[in-house]
Amino acid sequence: MTKENVIIIGAGIGGLACGALLAQAGHKVLILEKNSYIGGACSSYEKNGYLFDRAVHIFSSGLNGQYGVVFKRLGLDYLQLREHVNEITAMKIYKQEGYVQYDFNVNTALKSIQASAQKKGGSGAGGGSGKGMMDSLKGLGFTKNTVKELTVVMSNIMGMTKKKLRELYEEGITVTQWLNKYTEDPAIHGFIAFATAAMFCIGNGKASAAEFIHCFKGEMMTEEGMHYPISGAAQHIPDAMARGFKHYGGEIRTNTPVKSIVIKGNKVQGVMVGDELIEAPIVVSNLSIKWSVLNLIGRDYFEKSYIDKIESLTPSLSSITFKLALKKPLVEHWGFVNCYHKTLHDFADRYPPEKGYPFSNGFFGPILSNLDPKTAPPGCQNAIFGTLVPSKGPDWKKWTDVYWEDLKTFFPDLEKNLDFVDISYPKDISASTGKPEGPVEGLALTPSQTGKNKPSSIIPGIEGLYVVGDTAGKNAHGIGTQEACHSGVMCADAILGNITFDKI
Ligand SMILES: Cc1cc2nc3c(=O)[nH]c(=O)nc-3n(C[C@H](O)[C@H](O)[C@H](O)COP(=O)(O)OP(=O)(O)OC[C@H]3O[C@@H](n4cnc5c(N)ncnc54)[C@H](O)[C@@H]3O)c2cc1C
Repeated sequence: MTKENVIIIGAGIGGLACGALLAQAGHKVLILEKNSYIGGACSSYEKNGYLFDRAVHIFSSGLNGQYGVVFKRLGLDYLQLREHVNEITAMKIYKQEGYVQYDFNVNTALKSIQASAQKKGGSGAGGGSGKGMMDSLKGLGFTKNTVKELTVVMSNIMGMTKKKLRELYEEGITVTQWLNKYTEDPAIHGFIAFATAAMFCIGNGKASAAEFIHCFKGEMMTEEGMHYPISGAAQHIPDAMARGFKHYGGEIRTNTPVKSIVIKGNKVQGVMVGDELIEAPIVVSNLSIKWSVLNLIGRDYFEKSYIDKIESLTPSLSSITFKLALKKPLVEHWGFVNCYHKTLHDFADRYPPEKGYPFSNGFFGPILSNLDPKTAPPGCQNAIFGTLVPSKGPDWKKWTDVYWEDLKTFFPDLEKNLDFVDISYPKDISASTGKPEGPVEGLALTPSQTGKNKPSSIIPGIEGLYVVGDTAGKNAHGIGTQEACHSGVMCADAILGNITFDKI
């Protein structure tokens, strides 16, 4: 038996952020990680000279968001991110007669929308010149009226005040319900559905309108745009956090799966690793709250109503990801979005598809070697394309074949230039996170699972026990890693007494 001050189970973004802040504040913190690597979903691996991300990541907010909070407080500049990633992004949209490609500069679009919002005071009474993105939309077949209505919607999103946003959280409606207040045009619902799916990996019919607007306005459409590590791919983010954690004396043990959390009376006593009890008065689990409560702790410790709530939690969709090792560059942009105009209107609301076969709808693709040339051998290209799938697929081979044909539609020279492709499935995401469904977001960001409705990081009735990451933390906001990081920061603050427990 050994004794520690704080044990954190799992070295995902939430666990590392929480651990780094606790270590900096003087706690003796031990992180136990089941995998041989750290970072969970936000990690990378090497193969034949390529450095691939395990998932498919572009990072909202960057140091302006929760990562910035962590590194500012640590007083360390270990995290190096490239800003404005969305400035060199292309959108290729498949129509019946082939595809059309747009260079898509989110910042230009942002400026035109902001100008439009200011002109109309966010009231949305129409128009705005809407250059940039609006012009591109006309090219997609949007009518003049559709563009006008979309400008109204965008103006209301970008012009929304904090007070109105708080009221929208209270209202608890979905993106579809909110959009219907302005327009029922399927093209607009489709356009927003693509953004909802890219950020939350669920459809408009399920996603929280308030959280969508919070993230779209505050994290996606910002002056600095999207971010990606300058070197080291996605793995750089957990590595930088782990460096900060170790700088303040923290210890990480990899290849160390925790079997259970031990409770004595109404207090946490520690964790079991194999047959060994490691004692600590504070335990923070970075596993999903569902797995933590039902499997690591056990239902007997809780009221039925709490177990019912935990069992009812649902994750987002999962993903199939194509990691393309290309003998020569096929894409000149930093990021690529491929979608199918024909079917865009119900993006992500139709899983699982009624007829059991995959539904072509779109890919999101960071082109890693354009962002960081060291992620591919000289002259080659490293491109990752991901698309959404349900967590349990009937026949992954069939699904993969359909998606592969889709990718070839967009890039006819793909096979000619292919060195090799690694395809990852929900089970691979599950292996890197311990979340059984292999979701993109551990909790689907629906009205009943966001804001104050999100499960608390505090495990009720057991002193010293917490959960962090993208499945827990009342009022932890943001997309994926930022949300997980926010949860870690707030939990550390509550443990340190900087904020009251009711906040998390
Ligand atoms: C395909 C895909 C695309 C994504 N795209 C983006 C994106 O573009 N931008 C973005 O910001 N986010 C994105 N995300 C989401 C983001 O990666 C996650 O929300 C975030 O990384 C989750 O962090 P977490 O703290 O919840 O920990 P997780 O990543 O879930 O890590 C949990 C850790 O706990 C460990 N663990 C599990 N069980 C045990 C055990 N018994 N003992 C010890 N350790 C254990 C795991 O091995 C893992 O290291 C994406 C995710 C996926 C899968």
